[in-house]
Amino acid sequence: MRIEADLKLGFKDVLIRPKRSTLHSRAQVSLERTFRLRHTGQTWTGIPLMAANMDTVGTFAMATELARHQLVTAVHKHYALEEWTAFVAAARDAGVESLPQVAISTGILDNDLDKLDQILERCPELLLICLDVANGYSEQFVACVSRVRARHPDKIIIAGNVVTGEMVEELLLAGADIIKVGIGPGSVCTTRVKTGVGYPQLSAIIECADAAHGLSGQIISDGGCTCAGDVAKAFGAGADFVMLGGMLAGHDEGGGTVIEREGRYFCEFYGMSSQTAMQKYSGGVADYRASEGKTVVVPYRGPVAETVRDILGGLRSACTYVGAACLKELTKRTTFVRVTEQENPVFTERDRHASP
Ligand code: 5GP
Repeated sequence: MRIEADLKLGFKDVLIRPKRSTLHSRAQVSLERTFRLRHTGQTWTGIPLMAANMDTVGTFAMATELARHQLVTAVHKHYALEEWTAFVAAARDAGVESLPQVAISTGILDNDLDKLDQILERCPELLLICLDVANGYSEQFVACVSRVRARHPDKIIIAGNVVTGEMVEELLLAGADIIKVGIGPGSVCTTRVKTGVGYPQLSAIIECADAAHGLSGQIISDGGCTCAGDVAKAFGAGADFVMLGGMLAGHDEGGGTVIEREGRYFCEFYGMSSQTAMQKYSGGVADYRASEGKTVVVPYRGPVAETVRDILGGLRSACTYVGAACLKELTKRTTFVRVTEQENPVFTERDRHASP
Protein backbone atom coordinates (compact mmCIF):
# COMPACT_ATOMS: atom_id res chain seq x y z
CA MET A 1 0.00 0.00 0.00
CA ARG A 2 1.10 3.56 -0.77
CA ILE A 3 -0.36 6.99 -0.10
CA GLU A 4 0.11 9.90 -2.50
CA ALA A 5 -0.03 12.91 -0.24
CA ASP A 6 -0.34 15.83 -2.71
CA LEU A 7 -3.76 17.30 -2.70
CA LYS A 8 -5.95 16.63 -5.74
CA LEU A 9 -8.61 19.19 -6.58
CA GLY A 10 -12.17 19.25 -7.87
CA PHE A 11 -14.11 22.15 -9.44
CA LYS A 12 -15.45 23.16 -6.02
CA ASP A 13 -11.92 23.76 -4.69
CA VAL A 14 -10.99 26.61 -7.03
CA LEU A 15 -12.13 29.84 -8.66
CA ILE A 16 -10.60 31.61 -11.66
CA ARG A 17 -8.75 34.81 -10.76
CA PRO A 18 -9.76 37.83 -12.94
CA LYS A 19 -7.05 39.50 -15.05
CA ARG A 20 -6.73 42.87 -16.77
CA SER A 21 -8.05 42.72 -20.29
CA THR A 22 -8.58 44.79 -23.41
CA LEU A 23 -11.80 43.03 -24.39
CA HIS A 24 -14.87 45.26 -24.45
CA SER A 25 -17.61 42.70 -24.78
CA ARG A 26 -18.40 39.02 -24.61
CA ALA A 27 -19.49 39.24 -28.23
CA GLN A 28 -15.80 39.55 -29.12
CA VAL A 29 -15.03 36.08 -27.72
CA SER A 30 -14.88 33.15 -30.12
CA LEU A 31 -15.63 29.71 -28.68
CA GLU A 32 -14.82 27.89 -31.90
CA ARG A 33 -11.75 25.67 -31.91
CA THR A 34 -9.88 23.76 -34.58
CA PHE A 35 -7.90 20.68 -33.63
CA ARG A 36 -5.53 18.61 -35.76
CA LEU A 37 -6.09 14.96 -34.91
CA ARG A 38 -3.13 12.82 -33.97
CA HIS A 39 -3.75 9.79 -36.16
CA THR A 40 -5.72 10.97 -39.14
CA GLY A 41 -3.98 14.33 -39.59
CA GLN A 42 -7.36 15.86 -40.46
CA THR A 43 -8.78 18.83 -38.61
CA TRP A 44 -11.97 19.19 -36.58
CA THR A 45 -13.68 22.55 -36.12
CA GLY A 46 -16.57 23.43 -33.82
CA ILE A 47 -17.46 24.44 -30.29
CA PRO A 48 -15.90 21.71 -28.14
CA LEU A 49 -18.83 20.97 -25.87
CA MET A 50 -20.35 17.51 -26.04
CA ALA A 51 -23.61 15.92 -24.96
CA ALA A 52 -22.92 12.70 -23.04
CA ASN A 53 -23.76 9.32 -24.56
CA MET A 54 -26.60 8.69 -22.14
CA ASP A 55 -29.96 7.64 -23.53
CA THR A 56 -31.86 10.69 -22.25
CA VAL A 57 -29.16 13.13 -23.42
CA GLY A 58 -27.20 11.72 -26.39
CA THR A 59 -30.19 11.27 -28.72
CA PHE A 60 -30.59 11.95 -32.44
CA ALA A 61 -32.89 14.89 -31.64
CA MET A 62 -30.16 16.33 -29.39
CA ALA A 63 -27.55 15.78 -32.12
CA THR A 64 -29.67 17.61 -34.68
CA GLU A 65 -30.26 20.58 -32.38
CA LEU A 66 -26.72 20.84 -30.95
CA ALA A 67 -25.17 20.62 -34.44
CA ARG A 68 -27.04 23.85 -35.25
CA HIS A 69 -24.97 25.49 -32.51
CA GLN A 70 -21.76 23.69 -33.63
CA LEU A 71 -21.77 21.50 -30.48
CA VAL A 72 -21.08 17.77 -30.54
CA THR A 73 -23.31 14.89 -29.42
CA ALA A 74 -21.97 11.49 -28.44
CA VAL A 75 -24.99 9.48 -29.54
CA HIS A 76 -25.77 6.62 -27.15
CA LYS A 77 -25.06 3.04 -28.18
CA HIS A 78 -28.57 1.64 -27.99
CA TYR A 79 -29.84 2.83 -31.38
CA ALA A 80 -30.26 0.09 -33.99
CA LEU A 81 -28.46 0.12 -37.35
CA GLU A 82 -31.71 1.05 -39.12
CA GLU A 83 -32.19 4.06 -36.84
CA TRP A 84 -28.67 5.24 -37.67
CA THR A 85 -29.24 4.91 -41.40
CA ALA A 86 -32.55 6.79 -41.13
CA PHE A 87 -30.85 9.60 -39.16
CA VAL A 88 -28.03 9.94 -41.66
CA ALA A 89 -30.41 9.71 -44.63
CA ALA A 90 -32.38 12.65 -43.19
CA ALA A 91 -29.14 14.64 -42.88
CA ARG A 92 -28.26 13.76 -46.51
CA ASP A 93 -31.69 14.95 -47.64
CA ALA A 94 -31.00 18.22 -45.86
CA GLY A 95 -27.79 18.58 -47.93
CA VAL A 96 -25.32 17.70 -45.14
CA GLU A 97 -22.10 16.17 -46.51
CA SER A 98 -20.32 15.19 -43.32
CA LEU A 99 -21.30 14.98 -39.67
CA PRO A 100 -18.33 16.19 -37.60
CA GLN A 101 -20.67 17.02 -34.72
CA VAL A 102 -21.95 13.45 -34.24
CA ALA A 103 -20.06 10.64 -32.51
CA ILE A 104 -21.15 6.98 -32.60
CA SER A 105 -20.74 5.49 -29.13
CA THR A 106 -19.95 1.86 -28.80
CA GLY A 107 -18.94 -0.72 -26.24
CA ILE A 108 -16.12 -3.15 -26.95
CA LEU A 109 -17.83 -6.52 -27.27
CA ASP A 110 -17.63 -8.26 -30.64
CA ASN A 111 -21.25 -7.55 -31.45
CA ASP A 112 -20.80 -3.84 -30.53
CA LEU A 113 -17.84 -3.60 -32.93
CA ASP A 114 -19.71 -5.44 -35.69
CA LYS A 115 -22.56 -2.95 -35.37
CA LEU A 116 -20.04 -0.09 -35.51
CA ASP A 117 -18.58 -1.48 -38.75
CA GLN A 118 -22.03 -1.79 -40.27
CA ILE A 119 -23.04 1.75 -39.28
CA LEU A 120 -19.84 3.18 -40.78
CA GLU A 121 -20.20 1.14 -43.95
CA ARG A 122 -23.66 2.54 -44.55
CA CYS A 123 -22.98 6.03 -43.20
CA PRO A 124 -19.47 7.06 -44.27
CA GLU A 125 -20.19 10.71 -43.47
CA LEU A 126 -19.89 9.91 -39.77
CA LEU A 127 -16.38 10.83 -38.61
CA LEU A 128 -16.26 10.28 -34.86
CA ILE A 129 -16.19 7.00 -32.94
CA CYS A 130 -16.50 7.02 -29.14
CA LEU A 131 -15.14 3.81 -27.59
CA ASP A 132 -16.60 3.98 -24.15
CA VAL A 133 -16.05 1.78 -21.12
CA ALA A 134 -16.45 2.60 -17.44
CA ASN A 135 -12.89 1.45 -16.75
CA GLY A 136 -10.39 2.25 -19.50
CA TYR A 137 -7.51 0.56 -17.69
CA SER A 138 -7.88 -2.97 -19.09
CA GLU A 139 -5.51 -4.56 -21.61
CA GLN A 140 -8.55 -5.70 -23.53
CA PHE A 141 -9.61 -2.07 -23.99
CA VAL A 142 -6.19 -1.03 -25.31
CA ALA A 143 -6.32 -3.94 -27.77
CA CYS A 144 -9.77 -2.86 -28.87
CA VAL A 145 -8.57 0.70 -29.57
CA SER A 146 -5.80 -0.73 -31.80
CA ARG A 147 -8.24 -2.98 -33.58
CA VAL A 148 -10.69 -0.15 -34.30
CA ARG A 149 -7.83 2.11 -35.46
CA ALA A 150 -6.66 -0.58 -37.91
CA ARG A 151 -10.17 -1.02 -39.30
CA HIS A 152 -11.00 2.69 -39.49
CA PRO A 153 -7.79 4.57 -40.27
CA ASP A 154 -9.63 7.71 -41.40
CA LYS A 155 -11.97 8.15 -38.40
CA ILE A 156 -11.50 10.22 -35.26
CA ILE A 157 -11.34 7.83 -32.30
CA ILE A 158 -12.33 8.92 -28.81
CA ALA A 159 -11.42 6.43 -26.06
CA GLY A 160 -12.06 6.38 -22.33
CA ASN A 161 -12.52 6.71 -19.46
CA VAL A 162 -9.25 7.12 -17.62
CA VAL A 163 -7.87 9.69 -15.16
CA THR A 164 -4.09 9.38 -15.20
CA GLY A 165 -1.38 10.50 -17.61
CA GLU A 166 0.23 7.12 -18.26
CA MET A 167 -3.04 5.60 -19.45
CA VAL A 168 -3.78 8.65 -21.62
CA GLU A 169 -0.44 8.04 -23.32
CA GLU A 170 -1.06 4.34 -23.74
CA LEU A 171 -4.44 4.86 -25.40
CA LEU A 172 -3.09 7.59 -27.69
CA LEU A 173 -0.22 5.34 -28.75
CA ALA A 174 -2.68 2.47 -29.30
CA GLY A 175 -4.58 4.53 -31.86
CA ALA A 176 -6.95 6.96 -30.12
CA ASP A 177 -6.99 10.66 -31.07
CA ILE A 178 -8.93 12.01 -28.11
CA ILE A 179 -9.04 10.60 -24.57
CA LYS A 180 -12.10 10.86 -22.35
CA VAL A 181 -11.18 11.68 -18.76
CA GLY A 182 -13.29 11.14 -15.66
CA ILE A 183 -13.91 8.34 -13.20
CA GLY A 184 -16.55 8.99 -10.63
CA PRO A 185 -17.42 12.70 -10.95
CA GLY A 186 -20.76 12.29 -12.79
CA SER A 187 -24.05 13.65 -11.47
CA VAL A 188 -25.70 10.22 -11.49
CA CYS A 189 -22.56 8.19 -10.89
CA THR A 190 -22.09 6.14 -7.73
CA THR A 191 -18.70 4.58 -8.58
CA ARG A 192 -16.88 6.42 -5.81
CA VAL A 193 -19.42 5.24 -3.24
CA LYS A 194 -19.69 1.68 -4.52
CA THR A 195 -16.00 1.07 -5.16
CA GLY A 196 -13.97 3.78 -3.43
CA VAL A 197 -12.25 4.44 -6.78
CA GLY A 198 -11.99 7.88 -8.40
CA TYR A 199 -9.91 11.01 -8.97
CA PRO A 200 -10.87 14.65 -8.37
CA GLN A 201 -11.82 15.97 -11.79
CA LEU A 202 -9.85 19.24 -11.96
CA SER A 203 -6.58 17.48 -11.14
CA ALA A 204 -7.42 14.67 -13.56
CA ILE A 205 -7.88 17.26 -16.33
CA ILE A 206 -4.62 19.09 -15.52
CA GLU A 207 -2.57 15.88 -15.44
CA CYS A 208 -4.22 14.15 -18.40
CA ALA A 209 -4.15 17.28 -20.62
CA ASP A 210 -0.44 17.58 -20.01
CA ALA A 211 0.13 13.95 -21.01
CA ALA A 212 -2.12 14.18 -24.08
CA HIS A 213 -0.77 17.47 -25.40
CA GLY A 214 2.76 16.11 -25.16
CA LEU A 215 1.74 13.49 -27.74
CA SER A 216 -0.39 15.85 -29.89
CA GLY A 217 -3.59 14.33 -28.56
CA GLN A 218 -6.64 15.95 -27.00
CA ILE A 219 -8.77 15.22 -23.95
CA ILE A 220 -12.44 15.46 -23.09
CA SER A 221 -13.32 16.29 -19.50
CA ASP A 222 -16.26 14.00 -18.85
CA GLY A 223 -18.54 14.50 -15.87
CA GLY A 224 -18.82 16.65 -12.80
CA CYS A 225 -19.83 20.00 -14.33
CA THR A 226 -22.78 21.40 -12.40
CA CYS A 227 -22.87 24.93 -13.88
CA ALA A 228 -21.32 27.03 -16.66
CA GLY A 229 -18.60 28.10 -14.19
CA ASP A 230 -17.44 24.48 -13.89
CA VAL A 231 -17.28 24.25 -17.70
CA ALA A 232 -15.05 27.34 -17.73
CA LYS A 233 -12.84 25.79 -15.02
CA ALA A 234 -12.55 22.56 -17.04
CA PHE A 235 -11.36 24.48 -20.11
CA GLY A 236 -9.15 26.67 -17.90
CA ALA A 237 -7.51 23.51 -16.52
CA GLY A 238 -6.62 22.35 -20.04
CA ALA A 239 -9.57 20.31 -21.32
CA ASP A 240 -9.92 20.47 -25.10
CA PHE A 241 -13.55 19.31 -24.96
CA VAL A 242 -16.07 19.17 -22.12
CA MET A 243 -18.80 16.52 -21.97
CA LEU A 244 -22.07 17.20 -20.18
CA GLY A 245 -24.77 14.82 -18.94
CA GLY A 246 -26.79 16.31 -16.08
CA MET A 247 -26.51 19.89 -17.36
CA LEU A 248 -28.23 18.82 -20.59
CA ALA A 249 -30.80 16.54 -18.92
CA GLY A 250 -34.51 17.37 -18.69
CA HIS A 251 -34.88 18.84 -22.18
CA ASP A 252 -37.33 18.01 -24.98
CA GLU A 253 -34.51 16.66 -27.18
CA GLY A 254 -33.61 14.00 -24.58
CA GLY A 255 -36.94 12.31 -25.18
CA GLY A 256 -37.43 11.31 -21.51
CA THR A 257 -40.96 11.00 -20.13
CA VAL A 258 -42.24 14.22 -18.59
CA ILE A 259 -43.84 13.66 -15.17
CA GLU A 260 -46.24 16.09 -13.45
CA ARG A 261 -46.09 16.49 -9.66
CA GLU A 262 -48.23 19.09 -7.92
CA GLY A 263 -48.31 21.35 -10.96
CA ARG A 264 -44.58 21.15 -11.66
CA TYR A 265 -42.93 19.14 -14.41
CA PHE A 266 -39.97 16.78 -14.17
CA CYS A 267 -38.04 14.30 -16.32
CA GLU A 268 -36.42 11.05 -15.28
CA PHE A 269 -32.63 10.97 -15.63
CA TYR A 270 -30.40 8.00 -14.83
CA GLY A 271 -26.86 6.72 -15.12
CA MET A 272 -26.10 4.27 -17.91
CA SER A 273 -24.97 1.73 -15.29
CA SER A 274 -27.99 2.33 -13.05
CA GLN A 275 -30.53 -0.33 -12.33
CA THR A 276 -33.00 1.59 -14.54
CA ALA A 277 -30.68 1.42 -17.58
CA MET A 278 -29.67 -2.19 -16.97
CA GLN A 279 -33.30 -3.22 -16.63
CA LYS A 280 -34.11 -1.44 -19.89
CA TYR A 281 -31.27 -2.84 -21.99
CA SER A 282 -30.03 -6.04 -20.34
CA GLY A 283 -33.07 -7.30 -18.49
CA GLY A 284 -31.66 -6.47 -15.04
CA VAL A 285 -28.46 -6.18 -13.03
CA ALA A 286 -26.25 -9.27 -13.52
CA ASP A 287 -25.48 -11.23 -10.32
CA TYR A 288 -21.77 -10.49 -10.38
CA ARG A 289 -22.02 -6.69 -10.59
CA ALA A 290 -23.49 -3.79 -8.65
CA SER A 291 -25.30 -0.92 -10.30
CA GLU A 292 -23.04 2.14 -10.37
CA GLY A 293 -25.58 4.77 -11.29
CA LYS A 294 -28.47 6.70 -9.77
CA THR A 295 -31.97 7.32 -11.05
CA VAL A 296 -33.26 10.83 -10.30
CA VAL A 297 -35.92 13.26 -11.49
CA VAL A 298 -34.78 16.65 -12.76
CA PRO A 299 -36.92 19.73 -13.49
CA TYR A 300 -38.28 19.68 -17.04
CA ARG A 301 -36.55 22.50 -18.94
CA GLY A 302 -38.14 22.60 -22.41
CA PRO A 303 -35.98 23.03 -25.52
CA VAL A 304 -32.21 22.75 -25.03
CA ALA A 305 -31.38 25.88 -27.08
CA GLU A 306 -31.92 28.21 -24.10
CA THR A 307 -29.62 26.11 -21.88
CA VAL A 308 -26.95 26.08 -24.60
CA ARG A 309 -27.13 29.88 -24.85
CA ASP A 310 -26.75 30.10 -21.10
CA ILE A 311 -23.68 27.85 -20.98
CA LEU A 312 -21.99 29.54 -23.95
CA GLY A 313 -22.78 32.96 -22.44
CA GLY A 314 -21.12 31.94 -19.16
CA LEU A 315 -18.11 30.64 -20.99
CA ARG A 316 -17.71 33.82 -23.05
CA SER A 317 -18.01 35.84 -19.89
CA ALA A 318 -15.29 33.76 -18.18
CA CYS A 319 -13.05 34.47 -21.17
CA THR A 320 -13.61 38.23 -20.86
CA TYR A 321 -12.80 38.14 -17.13
CA VAL A 322 -9.32 36.83 -17.91
CA GLY A 323 -8.82 38.62 -21.23
CA ALA A 324 -9.03 35.56 -23.47
CA ALA A 325 -10.24 36.59 -26.94
CA CYS A 326 -10.88 32.97 -27.82
CA LEU A 327 -11.43 29.72 -25.97
CA LYS A 328 -7.99 28.49 -26.96
CA GLU A 329 -6.42 31.26 -24.85
CA LEU A 330 -8.42 30.44 -21.72
CA THR A 331 -6.00 27.83 -20.34
CA LYS A 332 -2.97 30.08 -20.81
CA ARG A 333 -4.73 32.96 -19.09
CA THR A 334 -6.15 30.92 -16.20
CA THR A 335 -4.80 31.21 -12.69
CA PHE A 336 -6.83 29.23 -10.20
CA VAL A 337 -7.15 30.33 -6.62
CA ARG A 338 -7.73 27.68 -3.97
CA VAL A 339 -10.94 28.46 -2.11
CA THR A 340 -13.13 27.17 0.66
CA GLU A 341 -16.28 28.90 -0.60
CA GLN A 342 -18.16 29.06 -3.90
CA GLU A 343 -21.56 30.73 -4.33
CA ASN A 344 -23.40 32.60 -1.61
CA PRO A 345 -25.87 30.07 -0.21
CA VAL A 346 -28.25 32.51 1.50
CA PHE A 347 -31.00 32.01 -1.09
CA THR A 348 -31.56 28.48 -2.26
CA GLU A 349 -32.96 27.14 -5.51
CA ARG A 350 -36.30 26.74 -3.70
CA ASP A 351 -36.41 30.45 -2.81
CA ARG A 352 -35.78 31.31 -6.45
CA HIS A 353 -38.76 29.21 -7.56
CA ALA A 354 -40.92 30.66 -4.81
CA SER A 355 -40.51 34.27 -6.03
CA PRO A 356 -43.51 35.71 -7.92
P1 5GP B 1 -22.45 14.65 -15.58
O1 5GP B 1 -22.22 15.65 -16.67
O2 5GP B 1 -23.90 14.25 -15.50
O3 5GP B 1 -21.87 15.05 -14.27
O4 5GP B 1 -21.62 13.34 -16.01
C1 5GP B 1 -21.88 12.65 -17.20
C2 5GP B 1 -20.99 11.44 -17.26
O5 5GP B 1 -21.27 10.53 -16.20
C3 5GP B 1 -21.19 10.58 -18.50
O6 5GP B 1 -20.63 11.12 -19.65
C4 5GP B 1 -20.53 9.27 -18.06
O7 5GP B 1 -19.12 9.32 -18.21
C5 5GP B 1 -20.84 9.22 -16.58
N1 5GP B 1 -21.93 8.28 -16.31
C6 5GP B 1 -23.12 8.16 -16.93
N2 5GP B 1 -23.87 7.19 -16.38
C7 5GP B 1 -23.13 6.64 -15.41
C8 5GP B 1 -23.33 5.56 -14.49
O8 5GP B 1 -24.38 4.93 -14.44
N3 5GP B 1 -22.30 5.28 -13.67
C9 5GP B 1 -21.13 5.97 -13.69
N4 5GP B 1 -20.16 5.60 -12.87
N5 5GP B 1 -20.91 7.01 -14.52
C10 5GP B 1 -21.88 7.33 -15.37
